Amino acid sequence: MHAYDFAAAGSVTDAVGRAGADSAYLAGGTTLVDLMKLDVMTPAHVIDVNHLPLTAVTADKQGLHIGALARMSEVAANPLTKAYPVIAQALLASASPQIRNMASIGGNLLQRTRCDYFRDVHTPCNKREPGSGCPAQTGDNRGHAILGTSTSCVATHASDLAVALVALGASVQLQSAAGTRTVQLADLYALPGSTPQVENRLLPGELILGVTVPPLSYAKRSAYVKVRDRQSYEFALSSAAVALDLRGSTIHDARVAVGGVGTVPWRLPKVEAALRGRRPLAATFTAAAAKATAGARPLAHNGFKVTLVQRTIVRALTGLVK
Ligand code: SF4
Repeated sequence: MHAYDFAAAGSVTDAVGRAGADSAYLAGGTTLVDLMKLDVMTPAHVIDVNHLPLTAVTADKQGLHIGALARMSEVAANPLTKAYPVIAQALLASASPQIRNMASIGGNLLQRTRCDYFRDVHTPCNKREPGSGCPAQTGDNRGHAILGTSTSCVATHASDLAVALVALGASVQLQSAAGTRTVQLADLYALPGSTPQVENRLLPGELILGVTVPPLSYAKRSAYVKVRDRQSYEFALSSAAVALDLRGSTIHDARVAVGGVGTVPWRLPKVEAALRGRRPLAATFTAAAAKATAGARPLAHNGFKVTLVQRTIVRALTGLVK
């Protein structure tokens, strides 16, 4: 592990005042410490933000507010989260109980990819070392993305929670030395393009303060389905966050986002549009899900994801109308 200096921030202002391009915030540490041990992340300054008052989970007319330092397990168990089953299900499908007890919401949203080449400093990787190459393009790419990829990077975004929150249209509150701002979570993430080392649109030293999930009248009819190689402590091969507004025998509105297949959490407005005004039948779900993979670019070993993600969407939607 590289040498670094360490400071515990006493306030948000103190934290962002200390932060810069060569610093990293430490919350649960479940991503950062792993990657520092591997020398994949080598910040010169580590700023512990665990004492900041950013742990509350509250609800009001603007929706559900989740502090960035709330732990995943706390949020999953919070009674206020019950109004959004897709959030609790995405959280409980993530990692392991021990990790969920440590990992923060803000850290979860910013977790780094699980691409094995990224985590091995003895191999090239454009994301870790820009310009060095992307061995996943022709190497082991079974777990990699089929949507939003580029010739520079095909790594998936690893967060389950982010998929649920993008489906719900959540926003994040941010603070840097320049002030505070709010952005849609979907807009926070950057496609890899030719600069896969740039994963988000945070300013240098900017800190996530919290997440707001806007009210959604039909959020109770929502779900998260995750398909993976084993049923615990495993990342998604494909996942679907869905919500349906059913009025009589008609789908009035729908939300659909998928994970495990995109370089960022991937909302599917064309699938949502194909569901609106239709009856909630298997044929409707199958036809809508077929639109999920328009423009997909499968690689040698992950072509199965094209069908798998469509089936994941159908399974998630079917579960909402049983
Ligand atoms: Fe690196 Fe992205 Fe290629 Fe993986 S897919 S080796 S993270 S550039």
